[in-house]
Amino acid sequence: MAAPRAVIFDLDGTLADSLADIAASTNACLAEAGLPTHDAATVRSFVGGGIGMLVERALGPHATPQNTERLLAAIRSHYAEHCTDETRLYDGVEATLARLDAQDVRLGVVSNKPDGMTQHMVATLMPSVPFGFVTGERPDIPRKPDPTGILTACSTLGVPPSAAIYVGDTAVDVEASRAAGLRSVAVAWGFRDRSVLAAAKPDHLIDHPRDLLPLV
Ligand SMILES: [Mg+2]
Repeated sequence: MAAPRAVIFDLDGTLADSLADIAASTNACLAEAGLPTHDAATVRSFVGGGIGMLVERALGPHATPQNTERLLAAIRSHYAEHCTDETRLYDGVEATLARLDAQDVRLGVVSNKPDGMTQHMVATLMPSVPFGFVTGERPDIPRKPDPTGILTACSTLGVPPSAAIYVGDTAVDVEASRAAGLRSVAVAWGFRDRSVLAAAKPDHLIDHPRDLLPLV
């Protein structure tokens, strides 16, 4: 029997095009608080470091402790209701996941999104994908670039880091894979430009989900 292999994915900007819902929730809550809103391209640059980072970046000069706490609570609640309104998988993701599963590759998700929303999104958008491990940010799993989530995924999936790859759309993902000792694949269809990703020096930089198949 071949040695087990695993592919572990980031969620937002990698599997799911979630920008419209993230931008809509962020702007609805900013507007509600009487604070300036941002266009979607700007919100895109705020995503990747978890919800706390998104709030800090969205508030900019208005990031007082009180505003930060209020906006964080408002976005958590608004986005939990709306996180799959417009969010869809990127073209080719479903077929690629099916191919990997057919090749007995073990699959996982490690996101910087709060864990409850991560579980909800994965269950809603990919109900038939047999992920062996899914996590978002939890009290015992700090946000990437901390490698704990990816290492927990490897041990849960029963695959050593050397036989697993991590796929993500930001430099934080590349950094986390490196810290965990996995090969890193950066995807150019997500929330960062190709040049920004190239500067992070991933092991591979791909333009379509199917490009993942020969790397596994
Ligand atoms: Mg991402």
